[in-house]
Amino acid sequence: MRIELLGTGGYFANDRRQTACLLLPELGLAFDGGSALFRISDRLQTPELKLFLTHAHLDHIVGLPYLLMPVHSKQVQRIAVHATQATLDAVKTHLFATPVFPVPVPFSCEEITSPGSMNIASDVTLRWQALPSHPGGSMAYRIDVTDGDGQRSMAYVTDTSLDGSYTDFIRGVDLLIHECYFSDEKAHLAARTGHCSASEVARLAVEAEVGRMVIVHVDPTIPLEDPVGVEGMRQIFPQTTLGYDGLSLEF
Ligand SMILES: [Zn+2]
Ligand SMILES: [Zn+2]
Repeated sequence: MRIELLGTGGYFANDRRQTACLLLPELGLAFDGGSALFRISDRLQTPELKLFLTHAHLDHIVGLPYLLMPVHSKQVQRIAVHATQATLDAVKTHLFATPVFPVPVPFSCEEITSPGSMNIASDVTLRWQALPSHPGGSMAYRIDVTDGDGQRSMAYVTDTSLDGSYTDFIRGVDLLIHECYFSDEKAHLAARTGHCSASEVARLAVEAEVGRMVIVHVDPTIPLEDPVGVEGMRQIFPQTTLGYDGLSLEF
């Protein structure tokens, strides 16, 4: 199963990274609609797009109006946006307010409540669980695949503090895609802002016994190739890598 990291930055796009968006092209499944959502057009392999949002903060929804282009070109024939009712309401009321974006983008709004699950294909199950410690809350997602190649799993966790609430939810996944907004030098800001810092994320990967971890949602105000200090994280959890826009992962 292939997953492509289309946007790996938090808060705002910089010269290296657009904001949050992940795509599983074969399934027509995406997570978050940040500024990188425009990149879906060239990659999607299905006529239908199922887009699951973690929450309504702008860096996770700002790309939704960009879906007008693949709809007009008929590359995408049906779009379903899945999120909590609060997130869907915020998108409809604010992002698609007529003075902000005057052209309606045809997508259906599908409410999800936590915890929940959906069969994406006969051999693919998606599950989700609320993350309470980010301002306004966020949602963690996990995919379990059981097919002829055996069992594999991945999880996507962003915009949360390390609060222990989702350790069991991600336990044992082969691939964990996890946010890390702050380096250890700024660890004091993590809990205050509802984000994570480097070493605590590495310790979580050890505790949850994940196979490998890819870091996303990094601080865009530090325009370095590695703004979080991945080398230090590898001292704790060696199978840590820093995600970047365009990275394609198999799990
Ligand atoms: Zn964010
Ligand atoms: Zn957020």
